[in-house]
Amino acid sequence: MAKKNILAIAAHPDDIEFGCPVTVRRLIKEGYTAYYVVATNGENGFKIRSMTGKERIDLRKKEQSSAAAAVGVKKVFFLDYKDGFLEYTDKLRRQLTKIIKELKPEIVFTFDPANLDFDNINLNHRDHRIIGTAVFDAVFAAKNDFIYPDKNGKHRVSRIYFFGTNKPNQFEDITDSLEFKLSIFKNFKSQFPNYGNFIKFLKENIIPKDENGRYYEEFRVVDVVQISY
Ligand SMILES: [Zn+2]
Repeated sequence: MAKKNILAIAAHPDDIEFGCPVTVRRLIKEGYTAYYVVATNGENGFKIRSMTGKERIDLRKKEQSSAAAAVGVKKVFFLDYKDGFLEYTDKLRRQLTKIIKELKPEIVFTFDPANLDFDNINLNHRDHRIIGTAVFDAVFAAKNDFIYPDKNGKHRVSRIYFFGTNKPNQFEDITDSLEFKLSIFKNFKSQFPNYGNFIKFLKENIIPKDENGRYYEEFRVVDVVQISY
């Protein structure tokens, strides 16, 4: 049986950690190999003003790499786009399609580009909407022979798991792994220097929970169906 891969794609270091790290870790335990793609280096989402741009980029990449290692991710692909300036281009869609054709993931995780509620200035960052749209379109292009021909052939992803969604249809109970999820953010000291306050905020306001006190990672799951007629 061929080894199965999963791929999580986001705009900035720490995006995937909000979205799906516990679900990714569960799938790794079930035998999947996981990869991340991070489109920008997150150098402009920064609180320490004394560092140079290069130092900020290096630090954020290092933080993302250690967070990925804590989950058991095999490799992080950094696309090195400028934070806050990601654009939907032919180049971006081609890069994403190439990675999908190479890794042949069964599941792709990314931001839900259909969430246009604009009710949270942080969650609805423009780079998040742009990467979500580009990934959706790259999943389409990857199952096509002609859009971006590739030595690895084409590949049909089975399902897209959208996080940051306003219409979840799948709920991963992470209650037993909540401490693990919180601990991952220790890797992002540049973002959350006051870790204690941050995880309290995260638990109370960000991570979805129900009336019974169970915590979740929520997704809108889309099946990539093969239409034949
Ligand atoms: Zn982000």
